[in-house]
Amino acid sequence: MQLTNRAKKTNKNPMTIAERLYLPALAGGLGTTIKHFFKKKPTIQYPEQKREFSPVFRGLHVLKRDDQGRERCTACGLCAVACPAEAITMIAGEREPGQEHLYREEKYAVEYEVNMLRCIFCGLCEEACPKAAIFLQPDKIAPAFFERDQVIFGKDRLVEKMDDRASVGIEKYTGVKS
Ligand code: SF4
Ligand code: SF4
Repeated sequence: MQLTNRAKKTNKNPMTIAERLYLPALAGGLGTTIKHFFKKKPTIQYPEQKREFSPVFRGLHVLKRDDQGRERCTACGLCAVACPAEAITMIAGEREPGQEHLYREEKYAVEYEVNMLRCIFCGLCEEACPKAAIFLQPDKIAPAFFERDQVIFGKDRLVEKMDDRASVGIEKYTGVKS
C-alpha cells in the first residue's frame, strides 16, 4: 500500500561496466565542480574585503563625547533599565570641581560596562538615553572573543576616542554633529 507519492522506486537492474567504474558519478561530480567554477563566488576575502552593512545594522556600542570632548553620559541608568538582556551595569559618581572638562553633567559614570555575551544588539539602550550618550555604531561589528573575561566592555573600550570620532548620526538627537 502506498501512503504518499514521495516513495522512490529503487533501480534493481544490474550495474553496467561504466557504472561499476563510477564513470557517470565522476562525470556528474566534475560537471558540478565546473559549473561552480564559473559562477560568481558568494564568499569574499574578509577582512580585506568587506560587505556593505544593512542600513538598519546595529553594531558595537560607543559612549559619545560632546564637541568639547566631555563624556555625555550622566549615569542616569535609563539604558540599563531599558535593556531587555540586563547587559548594562554602571556605577555613578559626582563630578569634582575641576573635572568640568571631562564630564558634561554633575553626575557621571565612574564605571560603565556592557556584557557582550548578553547583548542582543536591539538598540533599546540607544533609544532610552536622554543624553544622546550611547549609540550602536552602524559600521562596527563587536569583535570575536576567546575568553569569558574579554566579553565585558568597560569605559576603556566604549568611550569614544577624540582622534577617532564615531559617526552615529547623533545630529538627529541633538541637532549638532558631536
Ligand atoms: S543593544 Fe539591547 S541588549 Fe544590548 S545593551 Fe543595548 S539594550 Fe541591552
Ligand atoms: S548612556 Fe544615557 S541612558 Fe545610559 S546612563 Fe548614560 S546618560 Fe543614562
